[in-house]
Amino acid sequence: MELSLNVGSGKDSGETQRVKVLIIGAGPAGLAAALYAARAELEPVVLSGMTVGGQVSITHIIENYPGFPDGLPGPELGELFKAQAERFGARVVHDTATEVDFSQKPYRVKTYTGEFLADVIIIGTGATPRHLEIPGEAEFTGRGVSYCGTCDGFFFKEKDVVVVGGGDSAVEEGIFLTRYADKITLVHRRDELRASQILQTRAQNNPKMEFVWDTVLTAIEGEDTVERVQFENLKTGEKKTFETDGVFIFVGHSPNTELFKGQLDMDDEGYLVVNKYMETNLPGIYAAGEVADSHFRQVITSSGMGAAAAIQAVRYLETLE
Ligand code: NAP
Repeated sequence: MELSLNVGSGKDSGETQRVKVLIIGAGPAGLAAALYAARAELEPVVLSGMTVGGQVSITHIIENYPGFPDGLPGPELGELFKAQAERFGARVVHDTATEVDFSQKPYRVKTYTGEFLADVIIIGTGATPRHLEIPGEAEFTGRGVSYCGTCDGFFFKEKDVVVVGGGDSAVEEGIFLTRYADKITLVHRRDELRASQILQTRAQNNPKMEFVWDTVLTAIEGEDTVERVQFENLKTGEKKTFETDGVFIFVGHSPNTELFKGQLDMDDEGYLVVNKYMETNLPGIYAAGEVADSHFRQVITSSGMGAAAAIQAVRYLETLE
């Protein structure tokens, strides 16, 4: 993937910048925090990393964010979040945090192009799609294996595709892929989907979708691109070769917390631990959205957490003054 760095602005090249509020991540949590912090006139800086909008930006259509009765494309919602925060003075910088030092105040965050010293840090680094970790998966990523229907669906026009997973993502993306592919075979490790009923009904009524239950993939194979996968039925133990042109994997997410290991408290799965005020174990450091929430993981809940973190940060800064 191409790196999108903030070169050329001059302002961020190699220098140390002192800010009150630094927000790491520009998904719904980070940008909602930016909106609230900006309206409190704290001039927050947001490190957007590679993409504005986070996972929203790779979602074809968002239908459950209130205020948009007809739904809207994910990338558009991400841009609207950004524009609203910027309108009140947030500065969104296309740079990535590479190292943090939370051992003393002000907190220090290094990026590709410079570093920041901040009184408050709000972490909204989100989560990344989990991998199956089976033979062929890494080898064929970008050559038939994908984790994003919106990004890659177009390449599977009139092809047959396997979708792995039984949650909202797998079912929703599977339905989306029927726009392009001739046939979607959704493979789930149990005999019951986890996805919401409305999506299940849509999928079951879609003539292009078929379901393979109680089954996992054990290998992805081909020459230059994906040609087939190996199935194993977990109930009967039966193994089977299945021909396909592509494999879309939606088996959940892992939190993006590598950067904070050893500095902030995490749970067993690596999610940042926060209290109801979005406070981490360190004063002035907050976390919001999927990086700290393995349960709800919705655009609206992440935005709400971001807003709450910023409100709490404003109060914290007032106590410092
Ligand atoms: P998820 O709900 O955690 O579902 C992951 C799915 O992958 C589950 O069906 C799970 O099987 C399966 N799985 C996990 N590890 C596997 C493995 N190693 N091999 C095979 N299958 C495996 O993740 P998600 O679908 O990405 O959804 C994440 C969150 O976003 C959820 O809260 C969801 O509601 C939300 N979301 C909402 C929408 C929407 O509202 N339109 C759209 C997308 C996502 P089991 O079921 O057996 O555990």
